Amino acid sequence: MLTVLNAVTLSAEYLEKKGVESPRLNAELLLADVLNCKRMDLYLRFDQPLKEDEIDRYRELIRRRGAREPLQYILGYTEFYGLKFEVNESALIPRPETELLVEKIIELHNDAESLRILDIGTGSGNIAVALALNLQGAGIVAIDKSEDAIKLAQHNATLHDVSDSIEFIKKDIFEEYLFPDIRFDIIVSNPPYVSYDEYNKLQEEVARYEPGIAVTDYKDGYSFYKRIAELAIQFLSPGGRLFFELGQGQSAEVSAIMKKYDFDNIEIVRDYQKIDRIIYG
Ligand code: GLN
Repeated sequence: MLTVLNAVTLSAEYLEKKGVESPRLNAELLLADVLNCKRMDLYLRFDQPLKEDEIDRYRELIRRRGAREPLQYILGYTEFYGLKFEVNESALIPRPETELLVEKIIELHNDAESLRILDIGTGSGNIAVALALNLQGAGIVAIDKSEDAIKLAQHNATLHDVSDSIEFIKKDIFEEYLFPDIRFDIIVSNPPYVSYDEYNKLQEEVARYEPGIAVTDYKDGYSFYKRIAELAIQFLSPGGRLFFELGQGQSAEVSAIMKKYDFDNIEIVRDYQKIDRIIYG
């Protein structure tokens, strides 16, 4: 007989050996998923024996996590800006740092009407959906070069009932021109900013499971900033703003890139770890 408590304890030990961070938390979240209950509810049923099929399903999830597949891909969802987003291997898992980017845009623009917004590299659609829900009347175009990411983003927009406010388009900004007839008030991007050197040192969860093209430019980490700044200056309306998320240590270089393309009033926002995380101008 295997109780809830035994299952969690054994699995946590296993995950720890496999190098998973916060093994106990992971073991609990995965069991809660199998039992279809809240993590805290597990504590009320620690002595309860698990059924055969529950053990089988749990073992499979623990095996996947032990192989360092990200928890969010196993569960199939994550939270971003207080909202639930479905995730899978076709897009980057939304990170809490990116909430700052959304927060800053909303703070600066919440009384504007019918903003036109372009989200470059929308991935799971997290930025576009969070903005659509918080900026009334905004018209958003969200692009990504991955067809599968676009499908996922569309699905997330439907789940949050904002598909009417967002147009999803498959587009590669290095191959194609943007939209000749549209000027945007806001262009936003959380681009693949990890350099190829750094990419090779990332933890297995990221390197083996998240799409490489969402994480790195396979160069020095700045190619997207350059290309997007070059495009943004042509496709922003007068007084429009460009917002980027930054990788650690990239603020000076990205600020220089933006200045080179004639952006001014450049501001930088630090995250809770005091790292320069957002830049806009
Ligand atoms: N826009 C998505 C996010 O911010 C995806 C970003 C990316 O793939 N680089 O999470």
